[in-house]
Amino acid sequence: MCATEMPQLTWRNAERKRLFCCGASLCKGCFDETAQKVASSAVDDGSAEDVPSCPQCSGSLLMSDSVQMERLREHAEAGKAWAQYELGSRCESGNQGVTQELADAAYWYELANDQGYPLAPASLGACLLIGWEGTEKDYARAKKVLLPAAKKGDARAQRYLAQIFDGGLGVPPSQSDSILWLERAAEQGFAQGQADLGYMFEHGRGVTRSMKTARKWYKLAADQGERNAQFLLGGLLLNTKGERSLPTAMRLCRMAASQAHLDAIETLIQMETNLKRSCSHCRGFKEGLTRCSRCKAAYYCGSDCQMAHWKAGHAQDCCDSGPDCSHLLAMATGTSN
Ligand SMILES: [Zn+2]
Ligand SMILES: [Zn+2]
Ligand SMILES: [Zn+2]
Ligand SMILES: [Zn+2]
Repeated sequence: MCATEMPQLTWRNAERKRLFCCGASLCKGCFDETAQKVASSAVDDGSAEDVPSCPQCSGSLLMSDSVQMERLREHAEAGKAWAQYELGSRCESGNQGVTQELADAAYWYELANDQGYPLAPASLGACLLIGWEGTEKDYARAKKVLLPAAKKGDARAQRYLAQIFDGGLGVPPSQSDSILWLERAAEQGFAQGQADLGYMFEHGRGVTRSMKTARKWYKLAADQGERNAQFLLGGLLLNTKGERSLPTAMRLCRMAASQAHLDAIETLIQMETNLKRSCSHCRGFKEGLTRCSRCKAAYYCGSDCQMAHWKAGHAQDCCDSGPDCSHLLAMATGTSN
């Protein structure tokens, strides 16, 4: 079986994978290795050789997607909490062979939650906050489900609870309670909690407005790849320091845009349109300006202006441009072919 001692299942550590034959659990490393072996054992002509078998039940691990789904459903119906949760999350996201249906997701999450499955409360709470067709949002129940999990340290539950208090969803609005829960989530290193907390500081919601603290939380989340934090940090840099941090702001925006953050895509289009209108150094208007190839955040009418701008401070400001998302921008503006 998997030699790695399985860490306790928490919001932070959901890296436990199941084999759908018998539900044997593997760490992510072993699971990926096994999946690779299965993939390479399925040879082109459909015949399979040396198919790895399950270390627990010795069953063949070569299963079509539909058979996998069938097995998963059987496990869920037989009352296995892990399968109920897994099926719930597939219903929620609508991928891996399931149609997206929030009512089904909530149904399976509910069953997993009844069995005390550690990841279930936050997911169920989120469903209840959104509501689904034929059902009202149920804020009171969401709070009831989320609160115990939040108290136990579930950062996802803490963040949803913060949303309940901030929005006054079924409770009197309390930004201070919202901050309390967000801080607990953020301090545990939960990126989305950090991004939300940064937002509260940027806008002085429930706390004294502080750009410095906002920046700190945005940065921590952005460094973890959280796209909203990347976008918000970019905006903050632009508004607080002006043009000097433009290349960094644009890089952050591109990082968010490459993860399909719609506001980031829109902002980038706006920024690029404005930028290429005039030389970043002499401000002259001219057709066909050349772009700084490194940061892609400055335009020049010629090499003289580029040189002068470099000496005037662009040498410090210029940075790597971040991911290329020109195809996304082209798609958004409908200029793709
Ligand atoms: Zn392992
Ligand atoms: Zn098995
Ligand atoms: Zn110029
Ligand atoms: Zn540059």
